[in-house]
Amino acid sequence: MAKLLPITYFPCKDLRKKSKKVVDFKSKEFQQLILDMDKTMQEKDGLGLAAPQIGKNINMVVINTSDGSIVLINPKIMRKSWKKESAEEGCLSLPDIYGMVNRHKIIRVTAFDKQGKKIKFIAEDLFARVIQHEIDHLRGVLFIDKAKEITKGKDKLEEMKKNDYC
Ligand SMILES: [Zn+2]
Repeated sequence: MAKLLPITYFPCKDLRKKSKKVVDFKSKEFQQLILDMDKTMQEKDGLGLAAPQIGKNINMVVINTSDGSIVLINPKIMRKSWKKESAEEGCLSLPDIYGMVNRHKIIRVTAFDKQGKKIKFIAEDLFARVIQHEIDHLRGVLFIDKAKEITKGKDKLEEMKKNDYC
């Protein structure tokens, strides 16, 4: 059974750590974590969820797509389009805060699936944006670091900066 995991909120320091590579794909704990992260993302209505957002600093993200959710383990962006696009983004670790972020329009990604099989694909538009956002989490980068403008929740962001959620 998958269970709901508590979300780590900004400005918790776990969100700023660099995540480690996954080496043991086969463990029961890891397979359970994938199920739990997926359930948490679905329940919270997120487009994606990175492991640091549930307090685990490992290179793993789950992404919500129109064809269901996918898990990307040790993901890497191999190529990025020169063309970028700006759009509004939010984050489950920064609820009710939104900002305009410039992202590459098309990216080529390699990763491992939950069985440890290597996968390669091209992502465009919103799918590419979500992957870039989630991979940033694995390096301790948040969308507010890149946002040109905070469009909603500016006051809330200032309030959150004073807190310590860890
Ligand atoms: Zn996020």
